Amino acid sequence: MADIQSLEQRLESITVQDENYDSNAPGSLSTAISLSNLGAAASQNRLKLPLQKLPTNAGGKIAQSASSATITKITLPSQAAQQQQQQQQQRPSAESRPSDPDPLTPPTEPKAKAKQFHLGMFEIGKPLGKGKFGRVYLARERSTGFVCALKVLHKSELQQGKVEKQVRREIEIQSNLAHPNILRLYGHFHDTKRIFLILEFAGKGELYKHLRKAQKFPEWQAAQYIAQMASALKYLHKKHVMHRDIKPENILVGLHGEIKISDFGWSVHAPNNRRNTMCGTLDYLPPEMIKPGREENWYSEKVDLWSLGVLTYEFLVGEAPFEDTPVMTQRRIARGEMTVPAFVSAEARDLIKRLLVLDPEKRIPLEEVEVHPWIVKHCVKGERAYQRASGEGKVKKEKSGGVVGGQ
Ligand code: ATP
Ligand code: MG
Repeated sequence: MADIQSLEQRLESITVQDENYDSNAPGSLSTAISLSNLGAAASQNRLKLPLQKLPTNAGGKIAQSASSATITKITLPSQAAQQQQQQQQQRPSAESRPSDPDPLTPPTEPKAKAKQFHLGMFEIGKPLGKGKFGRVYLARERSTGFVCALKVLHKSELQQGKVEKQVRREIEIQSNLAHPNILRLYGHFHDTKRIFLILEFAGKGELYKHLRKAQKFPEWQAAQYIAQMASALKYLHKKHVMHRDIKPENILVGLHGEIKISDFGWSVHAPNNRRNTMCGTLDYLPPEMIKPGREENWYSEKVDLWSLGVLTYEFLVGEAPFEDTPVMTQRRIARGEMTVPAFVSAEARDLIKRLLVLDPEKRIPLEEVEVHPWIVKHCVKGERAYQRASGEGKVKKEKSGGVVGGQ
């Protein structure tokens, strides 16, 4: 307990600065980061790390990188002057965190205390995976033992891939989200060559792998996952964030089997760029993103509802509903042509059909997804998905219907 308390105290009110960030740029977002959920997460995050050296870039040494790591900060234009003054005056110390009810609403007052991250503060553990632009390692904050995932992105590769803006957007958005089914981004920092993202550690890895292994999920599990997705999407949409890249590859699983949406790279990315650079699957694209001349629809959060329908189908059937050759997939999506196999329950089929509706405005809203009979049937209030996923509480049900995930 004492450990957790000191952890909370140490990591409270962390803000990080990005030296490249132009705080005077119009429309810049406030991303003062407060680590409100870190304490709770920490209790689950005490693991033993098999330590290893972080591969270095161009012969650089990790210790050297750590000491020379540039401290980063993102700040509101209105906060900039005040924060600079404060930083000159004070060092980060343990003090109570100012409450911040809506992380996307710029705070009226600057965060009182700031703690700045650098690489030397972390022990680096085993690699967790590799993405297009970087690697992810298990890591532990030395002073607190807090276990996290450290994503290392090489600036040169981001520049080459012309995705710097996209990464910046991803950081701005994700660091302001706090929901049990959305992967937390606690902060970031950089050195001359690399950007480091401090992410919540999703102990059970990629949902995609679980799905491939299981081939398809039982209905209760699919329903609980979809309820968590609906809860997370509702939270995002309330904050006017569209994910726009919902698919099993972008969902991680926490230690207790709860799902965590990750990958906000496309969430507010210009759709034209997306289409031009997209080389992955078309399976999750909604009709309005496939048909030419309807770009205005790409900005509607209803795109995530379509993807939720595709996800529901794939969870239950083991493959996406429009899976085909690329040409045929596009054609079938545009016409909404799909069949739900007979082994899928009538309730699940009903939800899929209400989500996979060509007209974005006619898709079932998230509020209704949460109380849809299929969801209610499998998600009993007070019973958490991870209890079921881990086999606990499988038989114990409360009478009142409700959904998992809260919020
Ligand atoms: P892309 O570059 O297309 O986004 P990606 O999402 O797979 O690909 P990363 O986000 O860099 O790339 O992650 C690489 C892999 O590392 C993931 O597929 C996952 O297996 C693992 N991983 C990433 N983040 C975490 C995390 N927070 N907890 C646990 N494992 C993670
Ligand atoms: Mg990714």
